[in-house]
Amino acid sequence: MTAAPHFIYMDHAATTPVLPEVADMVRAVTLEHWGNASSVHGFGQQARKLVEEARVKVAALIGARPEEIVFTSGATESNNTVIKGAAEALKAHGERIVITAIEHPCVMEAARTMGKRGWHVTHVKVDGRATVDLDHLRRSLAEKTALVSVMLANNEVGTIEPVAEAARLAKERGAAVHTDATQAVGRIPVDVNALGVDYLSLSAHKFHGPKGVGALFVRRGARLTPLLHGGEQEAGKRSGTLNVPGIAGLGVAAELARRDLDARATAVRALRDRLEAGITARIPHCLLNGHPVERLPNHLNMSFEFVEGEAMLLSLDMHGVVCSTGSACSAGSLDPSHVLVAMGCAPARAHSSLRFSLGLANTAADVDTVIEILAGVVQRLRRMSPTYADFQRKRGMEAAGAGV
Ligand SMILES: *Cc1c(COP(=O)(O)O)cnc(C)c1O
Repeated sequence: MTAAPHFIYMDHAATTPVLPEVADMVRAVTLEHWGNASSVHGFGQQARKLVEEARVKVAALIGARPEEIVFTSGATESNNTVIKGAAEALKAHGERIVITAIEHPCVMEAARTMGKRGWHVTHVKVDGRATVDLDHLRRSLAEKTALVSVMLANNEVGTIEPVAEAARLAKERGAAVHTDATQAVGRIPVDVNALGVDYLSLSAHKFHGPKGVGALFVRRGARLTPLLHGGEQEAGKRSGTLNVPGIAGLGVAAELARRDLDARATAVRALRDRLEAGITARIPHCLLNGHPVERLPNHLNMSFEFVEGEAMLLSLDMHGVVCSTGSACSAGSLDPSHVLVAMGCAPARAHSSLRFSLGLANTAADVDTVIEILAGVVQRLRRMSPTYADFQRKRGMEAAGAGV
């Protein structure tokens, strides 16, 4: 059942494989410790103990205290809880939310919902590398603001954002600060105190934990109106019977991520750099999207001019190479990625982008195979591309004009 996949998986920004240690824990808890963690009897309290052990591990991964960790169903829930629930609790500060133009759809849409409820929502601009414009943020804070939300690392292009600086600006104006750290946790060091945030979202399945479980860091004393009411679990911040197997699995994933963080990052960065260098050397007319340096170690987003991302994606899939265009959440939509648009990419460039996100199981041989296959796919698609034919005709004319 754990056979290695027969394809090369380079879509770890969408999800990651569950590690065997995590799966073992989920299985053991499912079969042996299936008590309700809220039950007073001893069997329930065994489950409670597993939850509290996981809380300690998740807290350690992000430099928080265990009592500041609220378990949720994942980052979508964590983000919605903050954008709707924290903002609501903080509205005395001004019914305004400031987010960036490149947030994950679950932050974007949650903020839009607040907009429909009469709140003002400001989208802070980013530059051509997807780095948030701190000047624009500062100006956006001129008016009273309840909450600022700046993601720690972008899920499409991998750019790491200056969250600590953003948090400092927000604090000066009395606003609370949230960061969606879902892509960053387990990939780069994350510390809630170094960042200076009040709320932070993370998701287990982005760092080799199970799907459908995550956490929200709520700094001691930070306010929150819960989204879910009823059971008073998680100190009243998130009602509902706890997903004990998932939470225990998240705990193991957090423990392994903390232990192996540097080794993982070093290995995956070397592979990513090899992929980037190989593509750049082999394939003409390709452009890096995102920040060349301030970027997640496993992320590579590039545009291949004159070809459609979707066409490349499908051809690569047929050759056993799995990657994505933009984010899995907006895949299937014909609109160009809102992230690339916010970065000022022309529509053609935005439509010709591919995201490779590497992970633990990838090897140098995988990278070399992907470069070969991609070079062939791009060449074949360009031969069928009318815009490439136009480009070559123009270049031929220029060369003829410039010659003799
Ligand atoms: C994956 C992702 C989410 C959503 O997380 P789920 O746990 O799958 O709901 C939110 N934000 C970012 C940046 C992500 O990459």
